[in-house]
Amino acid sequence: MVDNNLQQIWAEALEDIKGVIGEQSFKNWIVKLDLIDIGDSILTISAPSNFVRDTVLARFSEDILNALNSYGCPVTSIDIKVSEEETKRQDAKSLDKIPNRSNSNDISVLDPRFTFQNFVAGKPNEFAYAAAVRVAESDTPIFNPLFLYGGVGLGKTHLMHSIAWRIKEIHPRKNVMYLSAEKFMYLFIKSLRFKTAMSFKEMVRAVDILMVDDVQFIGGKETTQEEFFHTFNELVDNNKQIVLSADKSPSNLDGVENRLKSRLGWGLVADIHPTTYELRLGILQSKAKQSKISVPDKVLEFLAAKITSNIRELEGALNRIIAHSALVGRELSIDVAYEVLKDLLRSNEQIITIDNIQRKVCEYYGIKLSDLTSAKRQKAITSARHVAMYLCKQLTTRSLPDIGKSFGGKDHATVIHAVKKVNENMQNDDNFKSDLEILKKSLEN
Ligand code: ADP
Ligand code: MG
Repeated sequence: MVDNNLQQIWAEALEDIKGVIGEQSFKNWIVKLDLIDIGDSILTISAPSNFVRDTVLARFSEDILNALNSYGCPVTSIDIKVSEEETKRQDAKSLDKIPNRSNSNDISVLDPRFTFQNFVAGKPNEFAYAAAVRVAESDTPIFNPLFLYGGVGLGKTHLMHSIAWRIKEIHPRKNVMYLSAEKFMYLFIKSLRFKTAMSFKEMVRAVDILMVDDVQFIGGKETTQEEFFHTFNELVDNNKQIVLSADKSPSNLDGVENRLKSRLGWGLVADIHPTTYELRLGILQSKAKQSKISVPDKVLEFLAAKITSNIRELEGALNRIIAHSALVGRELSIDVAYEVLKDLLRSNEQIITIDNIQRKVCEYYGIKLSDLTSAKRQKAITSARHVAMYLCKQLTTRSLPDIGKSFGGKDHATVIHAVKKVNENMQNDDNFKSDLEILKKSLEN
């Protein structure tokens, strides 16, 4: 499937092309094209026949490229593919392919998979989830705006689309507009430049629910912020619901004016925390259930434990091993998963730093970080310092002088001495040895 953003740009560009070449030519030729990809320099589309392909290339290449360039796509050439299958699909679709610009819903390209039904709630996201359901199901705004924030790939867009779907279900006549902040800016700037018939302002202000995704994007973009601020105020004044998402909380948004930041925090601010093992496993189980290929629990547990970065990567990993298994026809096992996902697993490995080790050791022995890196010689402190130095030598690739330096400027001989002491203690003291094992484990997780 083509990326939603690209699909939106393509739909916008088509409108412009229509304006340039006229309704009739557009209907005869351009309507028959389907977007495959907008790459860095090449636009790839499909056409139902060689005849259409040749005509489009000969007559409309320049108009198509110009339109895309005006949306910031640096494409310089067009590759048109022709296939029989495409022909059939095309016929069925050609009628409803061009969005009807008179309705602002057109901007909302909602992913049919992003629904509340498909959203797995767990500790890290239950608050955001509950808030989203509340907003979707209440007739008048209770929190305005609802501001969802959290790291990349944790489900913000999924929740926003779910809200839109639910509202469409309950109130099919309500005008829901979902767009990325980037798209908001595109349309706003475009309306300034082309003075479009129905101005962007009117269009946005006619909605019942406005959702803007990834608003951190407007940081540093003053005109867009200004417009956004006014739109925001007007909608709130008219009791229209606003839902926003960002990668940071309102007060931490970079390059956003203070008065806007404060407005953004007026309603309900709900954060989505990084995933836990339980949530990751829950999501994998739910996604695996939808697949035709059975994935053993052990493999799901393995993925949940190893891929901790975000849900998008987790999903990607599951899809990859399922695709692999479908292709090769081999049963899935941890070994297979390991083999297929080598690169991903490596990038998800926790990197253990001297800093991590020092903190963990201090926590474990209940001493202060400043004492650990001091010259103090009380037994408890020296012993913890030895352990920390030993772990740094074992678990990081840092050199002895580097490690020494990180402990308040000690030299490499001190580190060697510490490692020797710890080795001796391990041989003589079982409790000490098991302490060390626990510490090591907790660092490696
Ligand atoms: P964000 O917008 O926060 O970067 P997305 O909403 O795009 O993240 O989510 C990334 C992927 O993870 C999507 O495919 C989405 O369906 C999936 N996902 C995220 N959270 C959940 C969840 N709680 N349950 C099921 N799928 C989820
Ligand atoms: Mg998103």
